[in-house]
Amino acid sequence: MYALNYVKAKSLREATAFIARNPEAKLLAGGMTLIPTLKQRLARPTHVVDIANLPELRGIAAKGGKLVIGAGTRHHEVATSAAVRKAIPALSGLAAEIGDPQVRNRGTIGGSLANNDPAADYPAAVLGLAATVVTTQRSIAADDFFQGLFATALEEGEVIVRVEFPLPKRAAYSKFHHPASGYAMAGVFIAQTAGGVRVAVTGAGPGVFRWTAAEAALAKSFSSAALEGLPLDASGLNNDIHADREYRANLVRVMAKRALAKLSGRK
Ligand SMILES: Cc1cc2nc3c(=O)[nH]c(=O)nc-3n(C[C@H](O)[C@H](O)[C@H](O)COP(=O)(O)OP(=O)(O)OC[C@H]3O[C@@H](n4cnc5c(N)ncnc54)[C@H](O)[C@@H]3O)c2cc1C
Repeated sequence: MYALNYVKAKSLREATAFIARNPEAKLLAGGMTLIPTLKQRLARPTHVVDIANLPELRGIAAKGGKLVIGAGTRHHEVATSAAVRKAIPALSGLAAEIGDPQVRNRGTIGGSLANNDPAADYPAAVLGLAATVVTTQRSIAADDFFQGLFATALEEGEVIVRVEFPLPKRAAYSKFHHPASGYAMAGVFIAQTAGGVRVAVTGAGPGVFRWTAAEAALAKSFSSAALEGLPLDASGLNNDIHADREYRANLVRVMAKRALAKLSGRK
């Protein structure tokens, strides 16, 4: 780890002002990704600015047909929140399956989205539910937020403040865990929303994506049978020591069917 300075921000305003003055500084939320990155000397910020407990970034509220979750909310809080369980049970279930208890007690939704790991779980929910990522500068629709491998629409110095999830008619998530890390080898989030059916896939490709063929098929018939023989182009999927792309394509199909089975109460 390189030497760096630690700054504990007292407010969101102080944090944003500090990173504006110090462009080589990095925000520190749960530290579950940033600290290992620093330990491996893959990043060399001048400062880490701790935003973990800022009140402006905390909290969960269901209001006006939306579920609003502060960026600094930890996975464990989402997993155990009665408000989340009532509004979008698939989201609390997803949070409960992230990593292990240590990760869930430190990691935050904002950190996970800013990092946009291609195998992370929250991006599937945010894209699948057509959520909005609200930052210190603007509101970004999920369809515009995720931009591929570890890439997002966030600009330098832009901080995620909260995520607004419109309430779906129903939604489910199914994930095939990597046995060592717990990350998704493939995870599929299916939602029936006011705007139609959305199917978001994580873990299988270089970034979260919508499986539009499945969306069209499920819009016609919301059933497992609709997914039979449906094309999923494997050529852009990940091909690595953990699984080849054809296996991952098949996993996506299986996870989609499992998500549907959850919705029909069969799993
Ligand atoms: C062993 C292990 C297993 C894991 N398993 C899973 C898993 O199964 N599924 C899964 O989804 N994830 C998994 N994770 C990742 C975990 O969910 C982390 O929460 C997440 O990657 C980063 O969140 P964090 O709050 O710790 O962010 P940090 O590590 O503090 O920050 C990550 C990045 O986001 C930036 N950042 C943080 N907050 C904000 C903000 N509000 N606005 C803008 N930028 C911000 C930071 O500057 C940094 O660049 C795992 C991690 C570990 C270590």
